[in-house]
This record gives sequence, C-alpha cells and structure tokens, in this order.
Amino acid sequence: MRKESTSWENTCNRCGLCCHEKVIVGNTVVYDLSSYCQYYDPKTHQCTIYLERLEIEQRCKRVTRFTAMFASYLPDTCAYVQKARAKHLRFAPKRTIHFARSALSGDDDDSSLSN
Ligand code: SF4
Repeated sequence: MRKESTSWENTCNRCGLCCHEKVIVGNTVVYDLSSYCQYYDPKTHQCTIYLERLEIEQRCKRVTRFTAMFASYLPDTCAYVQKARAKHLRFAPKRTIHFARSALSGDDDDSSLSN
C-alpha cells in the first residue's frame, strides 16, 4: 500500500466528520452526530489510533487524492476537498449536508447546510 506524505496527512484538520456514520439519500448526505467509529473521541474530535487506524479498523479508509476529488460523502469543509477544489479537481456531485442524531440519543435533527 502506498504511504501518503506527512504534508498530505497533515492536511486533515481533524474535524472528525468522516468518522461519523453517514448515509447518502438522493442529494443529501446525512451525518449521524450520535454514531461514530469506536476509536473517535467526540470530546477532542480526534481519532485515538490515528497512525495505526488503517491496520486496526477495517472500515477506516485513507483519504487519498482520488477520494478528495470524487468522494461525495466528504463535506465541503473537509480540508482535502478544499485542497482539491482550489486546484479545480473536485468532481463529486454537490450534496446538501444534514446533521442528525440517531433515535437512541433521544434528540431530533440538528441542522443542515448546503455543500
Ligand atoms: S472530513 Fe476531512 S478534514 Fe475532517 S476529519 Fe475527515 S478527512 Fe479530516
């Protein structure tokens, strides 16, 4: 597997949104703010196993240049998306971002924003 450079790795601003459960429904990506990877710390918004995440957590996927260009589940605020967009290399369809909390938390939807 190809290792990304340190500067590429440091692009991530650790917002943690890609660590949350999400589903794409039509033109909307719904992020469940109550449900996230077991290694994500919601207090710090950081991955607790960042350097080993790809070996330990099978569901975790490295954000590559290809992902930054085409993955529509990444929010517009994602640093990789912004980097791709700055180079006119963002080709994913525009999607509205919606934040929700799963029923188990007892909360209703939080908010939404346009991506
Ligand atoms: S959404 Fe982008 S900036 Fe935020 S944690 Fe994921 S890869 Fe990093």
